[in-house]
Amino acid sequence: MFDESDRTAVADAVTEMLTTGALTLGPWTERFEQAFAAEHGASHAVAVASGTAALEIVLRTVGVRDRDVVVPAVTFYATAGAVLHAGGRPVLADVDPETLALSPQTLEAALTPDTAAVVLVHIGGLITPDVDGLRAVCDRRGIPLVEDAAHAHGSGYQGRTAGSFGLAGAFSFYPTKVTTSGEGGMILTESAELRDEARIYRDQGKGSFTTNHHVRFGASWRMSELNAAVGTVHLRRLKEFVETRRRVAQRYDAALVGLDGMRPVLEPAGCRSNYYKYVALLPPGVDRAAFKRAVAEEFGVRLSGEVYDLPLHHQPVFGPYRGAPLPVAEDVCARQVCLPVHSDMTEDETDQVISAVSAVHGRLAG
Ligand SMILES: *Cc1c(COP(=O)(O)O)cnc(C)c1O
Repeated sequence: MFDESDRTAVADAVTEMLTTGALTLGPWTERFEQAFAAEHGASHAVAVASGTAALEIVLRTVGVRDRDVVVPAVTFYATAGAVLHAGGRPVLADVDPETLALSPQTLEAALTPDTAAVVLVHIGGLITPDVDGLRAVCDRRGIPLVEDAAHAHGSGYQGRTAGSFGLAGAFSFYPTKVTTSGEGGMILTESAELRDEARIYRDQGKGSFTTNHHVRFGASWRMSELNAAVGTVHLRRLKEFVETRRRVAQRYDAALVGLDGMRPVLEPAGCRSNYYKYVALLPPGVDRAAFKRAVAEEFGVRLSGEVYDLPLHHQPVFGPYRGAPLPVAEDVCARQVCLPVHSDMTEDETDQVISAVSAVHGRLAG
């Protein structure tokens, strides 16, 4: 959602950059980095070409080549894809059924003698209350914790924000995320060393912007000034977007807890999700495809994409990394639906979804 004032602000920025000719790694990139860091209370931010690039850069800086990296099986392709691109081996771990995230137990079960890093994913924008416990497991072994915070712009836990729980957080500004830059990503970190490395990696591994000494095996991972301007303008709306999303989620919570066998993923105490997605598990035995078809055809309600409908170890491309069965991941992927949440969603639209879901639930789960 870009309202008229947002569109005007972007148009003015584009006019300015076409006039000055500063089209990459210029003042808008810096502005976006500063604003995003401030929004999350982080010391350093490095803007890059995508969320996947943000993850790969952090993993390359850590050094995961020919070593294991723990990744939850419930996540997007890119979380494990970035591990492989950085030269590491993804070890897919099971998740907690209440938060859809790693738990200290599922993490312990996936650690190997050669674990180089652990990636925690804040599914749907929810930061697990186990985050400190996960950090403690990592600290005991001296393993860096990395956050895939692609879903979690502005999400928090006990007053701390996404991106602040480990070595670094990787964010995405793909158009479906809570705020977008068209395409883009951001690394947040407290480490000045990681910030400096990330700046080198994103620009073809060059030692500095103006020299041609390539000191790292980087790539073309810069964010363009056009993307940075869109991202900076959109970020101004983050707080308002999250408020709207949270109001929608509260209405869903109140309605769904009354539906027999339906299990919405509720916010544990201390958590403040941005509700990138509103996830609910259908009662066991209810056919998801039939459920989605019924709410669409009979009520005109289109559910959003799942997070995710298939665990990574069942994705063909990760076949070689398939280990023991991961029963919770398999169950939560098979049973989840995501109710629509938009940053400008009204109460009437929310109630229309609730009516549709309640009616179809009554029929299919009854
Ligand atoms: C969107 C997403 C990414 C990748 O972000 P891109 O900007 O598309 O590269 C990585 N991880 C998760 C969990 C995502 O949802």
